[in-house]
Amino acid sequence: MVIAILSISPKRSVVKESSELYCLCMEALLFCPKTCRQKKRTLKNSKRGYLFACIMKDFTLNAYRLYLQAIKSSYPNFFRFDDYLKADPKPETFCLIRHDVDRKPKSALKMALLENSLSVRSTYYFRTKPHTFRAEIIREIYEKGHEIGYHYESLSDSKGDMRRALKDFKGNLARLRAIAPVRTIAMHGRPFSPFDNRDMWRDSADHKRIMEELGILGEVYLDIDYSDIAYINDTGRNWSSMQSNIRDHVESNVLRDFASGSQLLQYIGSQRDPKIVLQIHPERWTDSVRGYYVQWATEWGINRLKDLFGKS
Ligand SMILES: [Zn+2]
Repeated sequence: MVIAILSISPKRSVVKESSELYCLCMEALLFCPKTCRQKKRTLKNSKRGYLFACIMKDFTLNAYRLYLQAIKSSYPNFFRFDDYLKADPKPETFCLIRHDVDRKPKSALKMALLENSLSVRSTYYFRTKPHTFRAEIIREIYEKGHEIGYHYESLSDSKGDMRRALKDFKGNLARLRAIAPVRTIAMHGRPFSPFDNRDMWRDSADHKRIMEELGILGEVYLDIDYSDIAYINDTGRNWSSMQSNIRDHVESNVLRDFASGSQLLQYIGSQRDPKIVLQIHPERWTDSVRGYYVQWATEWGINRLKDLFGKS
């Protein structure tokens, strides 16, 4: 075990015990921007990556700010899902950020305000349960330039009864639309329900109905061709597409898994893939120390239950 002392800035120093960290620190010092005037972009992203690896906790708003800054450098084209679905032809390069508000709407608002401060627009899919349906928060997020979508779970709530599910869906859609326009929808995975909510629209007649009668531009799992899009999500509080995650998948030829946030940050900076979708759950991200560890413990427990029951 090696003890390394790293000074990222004159005001900040940290002490960590880790041989891996020691290597990162040495590399960071060797590639100090003060001694290298070339390849500024690479260095900037490297610096962020090293900063992240050394002192940043993932799943904090501070970490999310670093991701957003890296995305802005690499992907100037930000789209909301409604804009993307309307675009014809589709853009050649872009980043779409999607948020599923499963719990803690206040966390969604904090994330929306952070994005707004960086001129980033994204889409927030709200469940309509009592703990998430906060009209004042939904309205404020919409007024900050973000899109509001419906994170529906009607088939699970109706225990597989399609007729009841459609009625439930229409009622909740109307409640959301009383607050903000809603043009796109995304299913909620409901890890411990046997029903896949997307099944409401698998039949082509039902699918046509939602598009035309209900004025929906698209269901983001079913109506986007992900074959050449990297789909990256934080489900299970990790950056692996399969770990602790069964329903939150798309059909893509671009499979990207990351062992850590610093890997993800460097991937974004590399511009390896021209098209990416980030799926972020706001309740998972906090700068509160207590909230961070409570969330960590909660997700650890949920993931063990998922392992036990084989569901996500
Ligand atoms: Zn969800």
